[in-house]
Amino acid sequence: MSAPDPGLLALNTATTRKRWGLAQAIAGCARHGVRGIAPWRDQLHEMGIEPAVQAIRGHGLTVTGLCRGGMFTAADAAGRKAAIEDNLRALDEAHALGAQCLVLVTGGLPTGSKDIAGAREQVRDGIAAILPHARRAGVPLAIEPLHPMYAADRACINTLGQALDLCDALDARSEGGLGVAVDVYHVWWDPNLEGQIERAGKARLLAFHICDWLVPTRDLLNDRGMMGDGVIDLPRIRAWMQQAGYAGFHEVEIFSELDWWRRDPDEVVETSRERHRRCC
Ligand code: ZN
Repeated sequence: MSAPDPGLLALNTATTRKRWGLAQAIAGCARHGVRGIAPWRDQLHEMGIEPAVQAIRGHGLTVTGLCRGGMFTAADAAGRKAAIEDNLRALDEAHALGAQCLVLVTGGLPTGSKDIAGAREQVRDGIAAILPHARRAGVPLAIEPLHPMYAADRACINTLGQALDLCDALDARSEGGLGVAVDVYHVWWDPNLEGQIERAGKARLLAFHICDWLVPTRDLLNDRGMMGDGVIDLPRIRAWMQQAGYAGFHEVEIFSELDWWRRDPDEVVETSRERHRRCC
C-alpha cells in the first residue's frame, strides 16, 4: 500500500476544539495545507454561518461533513419532533456550507427506557422524516455507527452492517442522499468490516474518520489516539475503503482530554499530517 495522498487529509475540528474556535481552525487548516475541514455546529453557531462560509470559501477548503445531526431518540413525541426540527436546521446549515454530508449520531436509549429495539425504530423513523429534505438540500445523510459501548447514551446503531441495513430499508432503490460515515475508532474491531465496506460501495461511503485505539483506553469518550499510537490497522482499512470506491477525504477526529487537547493545535495539526503520511 503506497502512502495516502496528503491532499486528502481533513481536520475534524473536534480535534482542536479546546484551543481553537472555528475561525482559528479554518485559518490553521489553510496554514498547514490541510484542504478539508469538518466543523461542529456549536462552533459554527459561535462564529456565525455567513462568516464561516466566507472564510471556508476564501481559503478554498472543502467541508467534508457537518457534525452533527441525529439524536433522534426521545422519551416522548414532542422530543422526537424537536429532534427532527433540529436536524432540518442542521441540513440547512450543511447546505450553506456546501458540506459533503451531515453526520448522524443516531441517539441511544431514551431516558428511562430499556427498549433498544424501540430506540432503533425511532432512529429509522427520524431518518425517514428528514431524508426528503436532505435530498432537496443536496446534503447526503451519513449514518455513523458508534462503538457498542455508546449504545445506551449516544447511538444504538453500532455496526456498519446495521447502518447499511437502515440505508437499504430507507433507500431501497439507491436514489441517493443516504449513506454511512466510517470512523475507524468505532468499527475497527468488527469481524465483518471488510465485507460491509465492500457492501457499502462508492455510493454509500460518504466519510472516513481516522484516529487510533489506545491500549489501555483511559476514558471511554475522550481518550482517542493519534494515528500510529494504537492498534488499528489503518492502512488495511484505508485499502478496503479505496477498493470499495471511496475517493474522499481522510478526516482526523481525535477527542483527547489527557493528551492532544492539551497541546498547541499547530503541533496537533502538524503531527496529524506527518502521521497521516506515515501511518495511514
Ligand atoms: Zn467520527
